[in-house]
Amino acid sequence: MERKSMIAYVNGEFLPENQATVSIFDRGFLFADGVYEVTAVINGQLIDFEHHIARLQRSCHELELTLPYGEAELKQIHHQLIEKNNLHEGLIYLQLTRGNAMTRNFLYPDKDVKPTLVLFSQESSIVDHPKAKFGIEVVTFDDIRWQRCDIKTVALLAASMAKEYAHKHGADDALFTKDGYINEGSSSNCFIVTQDDKLQTRELNNKILPGITRRAILALAQEKGLEVIEKAFRLEDALNAKEVFITSATTLIWPVIKINGQNISEGKPGSIAVRLREIYLQKAKSQK
Ligand code: PMP
Repeated sequence: MERKSMIAYVNGEFLPENQATVSIFDRGFLFADGVYEVTAVINGQLIDFEHHIARLQRSCHELELTLPYGEAELKQIHHQLIEKNNLHEGLIYLQLTRGNAMTRNFLYPDKDVKPTLVLFSQESSIVDHPKAKFGIEVVTFDDIRWQRCDIKTVALLAASMAKEYAHKHGADDALFTKDGYINEGSSSNCFIVTQDDKLQTRELNNKILPGITRRAILALAQEKGLEVIEKAFRLEDALNAKEVFITSATTLIWPVIKINGQNISEGKPGSIAVRLREIYLQKAKSQK
């Protein structure tokens, strides 16, 4: 199906996508010197918006990047994009780079160089995605990323390599592993439900992205009386778990039914993943 052309936002202007351009000297292009956020839109509403902006502000702080707008202005731009593109379900992508320094130089440019802010929308199925219902098969991939995975930068080549590897091996996605431990998904966080019904995901540090969906799911699980453990787990723990699932803004929760060709339990989506997804969706739909 052909994708319909959309309106994008570039540095204060809303433009048809074929006129929305940035310079060849943009540091996002030359050095992957930029950060991004992806916020889900369901029924035309932004999901967990304030948490995405809080993470964006943190990413900017860590890299000494100046975010030109506060939460309220960014929310307005997001809403304008939703309206202009008549977006019912999908996502808003936001990218901020250190801007166009008019030359290639590793050092950060002077403060008078304005950052580049780009946003666009994308329609996609979230609520009724078949992978949410039937689950996904994943393969493991050595975590070759840098040591600051907690910052949401646009340097995503390792994630692309991992996804490409998964695709070539007939899987839906990859899990990044190091020294026998599962760090996270290529673009998601990873959870297991242990044989004694505890929900486990690794603790936050420089090795993973602090997922907004991870945070929401942990809070919901606690609210529902599930015992939650934030501690790294090994590949064998996942293979022997009752359930495995991944979380992200654009998938919410997708059950993992196979890792490296091996079934998780009976190779079917687990009941806790399905239930948590339902509750999260109900909550998300009531957000304004
Ligand atoms: N980890 C990585 C590496 C990711 O790219 C993503 C998706 N941005 C996540 C985790 C999930 O984060 P969120 O729930 O905020 O989408």
